[in-house]
Amino acid sequence: MSPEESNTDCIFCKIASGEMPSEIVYEDEDVVIFPDINPLTPVHLLVIPRRHITSLAEMSDEDTTIVGKMTRAANQVALEHGLAENGYRLTINSGADAGQVIFHLHMHLMGGRHLDWKH
Ligand code: 5GP
Ligand code: ZN
Repeated sequence: MSPEESNTDCIFCKIASGEMPSEIVYEDEDVVIFPDINPLTPVHLLVIPRRHITSLAEMSDEDTTIVGKMTRAANQVALEHGLAENGYRLTINSGADAGQVIFHLHMHLMGGRHLDWKH
């Protein structure tokens, strides 16, 4: 990956490149999925593009297809984790009000129990 596609200060870039060790649940050319370090649900995984994209707010036109690829990979992994019957949630936090703390685009894949919605 070229330097401009990776951010040397970014934890998720380091996980994607293997520089920082993590269990990897799924990976392909474009997408990596690994467990959240502080799981809030029985299944709590993070779905990221290999390419460093800061947030939804910073997406360019050429980044749009990656969100579809992330969603497809997340669904495949959700089914592999037994979430087909009861369902799961994909969440992207963007910016301060949503509580984004890691500025490398990621989806939270959460499931394994009932999730409250309206708060
Ligand atoms: P955000 O609030 O930005 O949407 O979510 C960031 C998530 O990254 C949090 O759920 C947090 O637990 C997780 N996280 C933070 N640092 C690390 C790390 O070093 N490794 C992993 N696997 N997850 C992390
Ligand atoms: Zn990054």
